[in-house]
Amino acid sequence: MTDGRRIHILNPRLANQIAAGEVVERPASVVKELAENAIDAGSRRIEVELESGGARLIRVRDDGSGIAEDDLPLALSRHATSKIESLEDLEGVASLGFRGEALASISSVSRLELTSNVEEDPRGGWRVVAEGRQMEPRVSPAPHPRGTSVSVRDLFFNTPARRKFLRTEKTEFGHVEEAFRRLALSRYDIGWTLRHNQKTLHQLRGAEDAASRERRIGALLGSKFLDNALHLDLETGGLRLWGWVGLPTHSRAQADQQYFFVNGRVVRDRLVAHAIRQAYRDVLFHGRHPVFVLYLEVEPSVVDVNVHPTKHEVRFRDGRLVHDFLFSSLHRALGEVRPNAATADAS
Ligand code: ADP
Ligand code: MG
Repeated sequence: MTDGRRIHILNPRLANQIAAGEVVERPASVVKELAENAIDAGSRRIEVELESGGARLIRVRDDGSGIAEDDLPLALSRHATSKIESLEDLEGVASLGFRGEALASISSVSRLELTSNVEEDPRGGWRVVAEGRQMEPRVSPAPHPRGTSVSVRDLFFNTPARRKFLRTEKTEFGHVEEAFRRLALSRYDIGWTLRHNQKTLHQLRGAEDAASRERRIGALLGSKFLDNALHLDLETGGLRLWGWVGLPTHSRAQADQQYFFVNGRVVRDRLVAHAIRQAYRDVLFHGRHPVFVLYLEVEPSVVDVNVHPTKHEVRFRDGRLVHDFLFSSLHRALGEVRPNAATADAS
């Protein structure tokens, strides 16, 4: 029953606003999308700045490759991306983005300003502005060092039903901090800054040596984390698993402090969760949850990341293999602390 209405194509703004429902849930999702773009642009430093939990302002600034003047309006269009061109590209995709939807979606539900420069000369640089955009964005000169800044103001200002779902400043900022933690744990080589209401909460130097990594984990997860964790680094047949798993004695009542990355992308995966739960099965009390920061590195082609718009889910070509590798790696690592390790290993 359509009340006699005819079929028509949605106008682009409405189409983008509908798509935004999938990727832009709250300020934290904007932070994730903008920071992932900064990572994909090869940035060495990424600064995240918010006001009022992000409801008033979210700004992400990077020193990456920048966007050329001519590409600026395109960057805000739906299905516009520089990251893939073909199905083969998609199957081997190594970048975090590829759908070309984030900026179009975000700009349809906020006041967005994108300033960028591909040259070293800080007097160069161009800006596009979009306000819950419908018209062609206009490009104007704006000085900016090499890299990109994106400011997102008044998120959901034109979609009141969604704005209503924003929680308190504290709650929203809590989600942002969690998103920031995941991002900063995903790339130790990048320097990260997090600022809220003019206060600097994190300033993490980018470095890949073991001491810097551990310092970062301490800053993000607390100093107790590593005191109560085992380090592991294992490799078989094209799979590498490294990171830290908490001692059974350091379990938690909630399933927080669980970070699992596949090729630098944080994922929540049932198969992964199952393998980890199994490995901890006889060392954890019922209802307790292990803590971990784990990195799985695989060939991009053996994992499909195009399962969900937020890309929090993945599909492995050989799930069994991944499951067994995770289980046996963790089981072995935990074997060293398992009380009856000798008998367990003999079976
Ligand atoms: P996707 O990341 O899926 O390609 P986005 O909508 O997030 O889609 O971004 C669209 C395009 O804009 C990207 O493909 C990239 O070319 C460009 N872009 C966005 N943010 C940045 C940035 N911080 N630095 C350089 N280029 C960027
Ligand atoms: Mg993107």
